[in-house]
Amino acid sequence: MDLIYLDNAATTRMEPEVLEAMLPYLKDQYGNPSAIYSLAAKSRSAVDLARRQAAALIHADPSEIFFTSGGSEADNWALEAAEACAKRGSHIVTTKVEHHAVLNTCRYLEERGVKVTYLNVDENGLVDPADVEAAITDQTVLVSVMTANNEIGTIEPIAEIGSICRKHGVFFHTDAVQAFGHIPIDVKEMKIDLLSASAHKLGGPKGVGLLYIKKGLKIRSLIRGGAQERGRRAGTENVPGIVGFGRACKIAAGTLEERARYERKLRDLAIGRLEGEISGVTLSGDRTRRLPNNIHVCIKGAEGQVMLILLDQRGICASGGSACTSGSLDPSHVLTAIGVPEDLATCSIRLTLSHENTETDINQAVDAIKEIVLQLREN
Ligand SMILES: *Cc1c(COP(=O)(O)O)cnc(C)c1O
Repeated sequence: MDLIYLDNAATTRMEPEVLEAMLPYLKDQYGNPSAIYSLAAKSRSAVDLARRQAAALIHADPSEIFFTSGGSEADNWALEAAEACAKRGSHIVTTKVEHHAVLNTCRYLEERGVKVTYLNVDENGLVDPADVEAAITDQTVLVSVMTANNEIGTIEPIAEIGSICRKHGVFFHTDAVQAFGHIPIDVKEMKIDLLSASAHKLGGPKGVGLLYIKKGLKIRSLIRGGAQERGRRAGTENVPGIVGFGRACKIAAGTLEERARYERKLRDLAIGRLEGEISGVTLSGDRTRRLPNNIHVCIKGAEGQVMLILLDQRGICASGGSACTSGSLDPSHVLTAIGVPEDLATCSIRLTLSHENTETDINQAVDAIKEIVLQLREN
């Protein structure tokens, strides 16, 4: 039985070309980039190339890219650093639909005296830029709004929020982990000061990410130690991981439009069939301001966890929404925020595609969901 992998928001298969690019740095090119011999220089220049490749994808300068251990570290860093450079008792504005890497860091900062405003979103998961502006006070140091939601795929009005933050002299951070390499991002045009990304969400390896820090912005280190990453992020560089990340960025830069077009076609095929052929299906998230690869539906009377197990038995990998909340039966904070009633929220399923999926994958997955829903409703 061939696997049908439809959980690309949780992680992606590494691009074959990425693995090839990494292999030398896992084998003979093992030099520490900080050393002075030529073996080290090779590692150093490989990291520099990756930095240029990552920067190019978001129209940043390579000097503005700081490699981290992943998206979570980048989110922690952005929020903690912004807080630290302001006085105690400062204020952060974020939303109710952020990833837990942002939300739990906000909770931690609240325990340390920071005030946090969690903005509501509308029924499609959209943040209203006017709400952002209204929430900014003279205490506000940072606004953090994700570029695209990892559960329901909604793409937020980042450029509008960026302009508001710039106008008020407030730092703007965006968790772009789901968007980076999937939809176009221009940090200058969108007036982004801090941006988080993660390699394993775009065909790169796990355990490597980045924080873009706008030039001139002085934020303190999260990981203290050596002088790596221009003194901003200590620890010997994950050279193979960074090389793989860079290659994944390069591939994304060249294929983004074409892959997005293809994924949108498959996405809309799946949404059309699910809505058209199964009763009691509601699409979550915005229909048009939506990641090209995201399908998220609630299906009345079909318990999500049970559906996932039955799909797995047919070789189909899907998700209930967030990898971080699966295992717990609490309804997702995102579905709660968009007003989905609790009983319906546990009946949700997320399919996230990649360019590797085919129309046959989609049709088989929809057929399987149809059968499973009928079966569950009979019982
Ligand atoms: C996956 C994800 C993260 C965490 O990234 P890691 O590299 O797994 O730490 C953060 N934010 C969003 C929106 C994500 O989808």
